[in-house]
Amino acid sequence: METDTITAISTPIGEGAIAIVRLSGEEAVSIVDSLFQGKDLQRVDTHTMHYGKIIDPETLEIAEEVMVSVMRAPKTFTREDVVEVNCHGGMVSVNRILEIMLAKGARLAEPGEFTKRAFLNGRIDLSQAEAVMDLIRAKTDRAMNVALKQMDGRLSRLIQDLRQQLLETLAHVEVNIDYPEYDDVEEMSHSIMAQKTRDVHQEVDRLLATAKQGKILREGLGTAIIGRPNVGKSSLMNALVHENKAIVTEVPGTTRDTIEEYVNVRGVPLRLIDTAGIRETEDIVERIGVERSRQVLQEADLILLVLNYGEDLNEDDEALIEAVRDMNIIIIVNKTDLDQKLDLERLRDLVPEHPVITTALLHEEGIDELETAISNTFFEGEIDTGDMTYVSNVRHVQLLKQTQQALEDALHGMEMDMPIDLVQIDVTRAWELLGEIIGDAVHESLIDQLFSQFCLGK
Ligand code: GDP
Repeated sequence: METDTITAISTPIGEGAIAIVRLSGEEAVSIVDSLFQGKDLQRVDTHTMHYGKIIDPETLEIAEEVMVSVMRAPKTFTREDVVEVNCHGGMVSVNRILEIMLAKGARLAEPGEFTKRAFLNGRIDLSQAEAVMDLIRAKTDRAMNVALKQMDGRLSRLIQDLRQQLLETLAHVEVNIDYPEYDDVEEMSHSIMAQKTRDVHQEVDRLLATAKQGKILREGLGTAIIGRPNVGKSSLMNALVHENKAIVTEVPGTTRDTIEEYVNVRGVPLRLIDTAGIRETEDIVERIGVERSRQVLQEADLILLVLNYGEDLNEDDEALIEAVRDMNIIIIVNKTDLDQKLDLERLRDLVPEHPVITTALLHEEGIDELETAISNTFFEGEIDTGDMTYVSNVRHVQLLKQTQQALEDALHGMEMDMPIDLVQIDVTRAWELLGEIIGDAVHESLIDQLFSQFCLGK
C-alpha cells in the first residue's frame, strides 16, 4: 500500500466560485493542520468542516481564507485520510494553496491517482473506477446515469454473479474428478455444466447487446443531416441546437483539432457530424460520389434526410434515398406551409421501413414529432431504460466478447463429448476473463495505463 500523501486541485481549471485542493494519505491532516489557523484539525471529529486561514510558511502571512473538510480513513473515497481545502476560485489562489501543500511535503498526484488508490485499497473495483472516468466525461444526463449506476457497482455485481455461477459449476466438476466412483455425479455434472454454461452465455449475450446503446450514450449518436440545397438543413440543425442544449467539445485529433457539436434530444446525445461540410455543400449528390462524403455517411449512426414538401421528388432526392436506404434514417419533409407538390404516398411506398415526419421548420412546427422519432430509433420504443445495465466501455466489451467465445468453445466441446476436464479449461478461461472486467488479476501495467487517462485531481 502506498503511504505518501498526494495532493491536487480537484475542481476544473478556470474561474469558479470555489476551488478545492484535495489531499489523501497518512500525512493529509497533519500537513494541513500545520498551516491552518483555526481549530486543531488533528482533534476535530471526522467528516466535519472548519473555517479558518491558511498561513504561508515562508512569509507567515495569511495566504487564504478557507473551509477545510477533514475525513478520516476508512470511510473516504480513497480509504485513506482525506482533507479537502475549499478556497476562493481563481487560479492564483488555488495554485498558491497547492504550492504551500507541496512545500510541506505532499506530492503532486498523478492523473487518476485518487481513484487508483480507491481501487488499490479495495474501495471500488476496476469497472467502478472506469465509471468515475465516464462520469467526468458524460455529455448527457443519461450517460451520467449509466456511469453512476456502474460506479454504484451494478455491473460489478452482475459480473460477480456470473463468475459465481461458473465457479460453482467448476467446483462441481472438481468433485467429479476427485470422486470418480460416483457415476451419477459424472452425468449430473455434465448436464449442469452444459446448462450453466448456456445460462451464462445468454447473459453475456444480453450484456453485449446493450453495448451499442452504451457506446452511443458515451460518444453520442453520430448524426448527419443531408438533403438538396435549400430544403432546410441549416434550419433543422438550428432548431435542434436551439431547442436543446448544445455542447461543443474539442476533440484532440492527430493533425488538427476538430470541433464536434452535441445536442441532447430527450436524453439521446446527437453528435452532429461534419455538419459544416454538409451545410456548405452546393451539390450534395455530386459529393455523395466523393469518397469522403461516403465515409461521413458510413460513420453516421443516424441520418436525417430532408426533403421539400413544395417540390416533387427529383432525381437528386431519389439518388440520396438510394444511397442511404439501408441505414438508420429519418425522412423529414419540410416546408409543409407551401403548396404540396411532393407525393407523400409515393414517398412512403419508397421507404416503407423508415419514419417520415412532416415539418415547417420556418414556423417551428413538427419539431416535437421529430424528436420523438429520434428518441424512438434509439430506444426502440423502450421509454424506461432506467433499470438497464449498459456496457459502454470498450475494454469491457472486448472482454465480454472473449468470454462469449470461451463459453462457446466449452459448449462446442460438450456437444462433441469431449472429456469434462477439457471443457473445464474453457469455462475457467471464461471465469478469468470476467474477472478482468472487475479488476481481479489484471496486470499492473494495465492499471497504470487505465488510471493515467483520468484528469488531474480525480
Ligand atoms: P439548407 O440549404 O438545406 O441548409 O436550407 P436552409 O435551412 O438554409 O433553408 C433554405 C431556405 O428555406 C431558407 O430561406 C429558410 O428560411 C427556408 N425554410 C426553411 N424551413 C422552411 C419552412 O418550413 N417553410 C418555408 N416556407 N421555408 C422554409
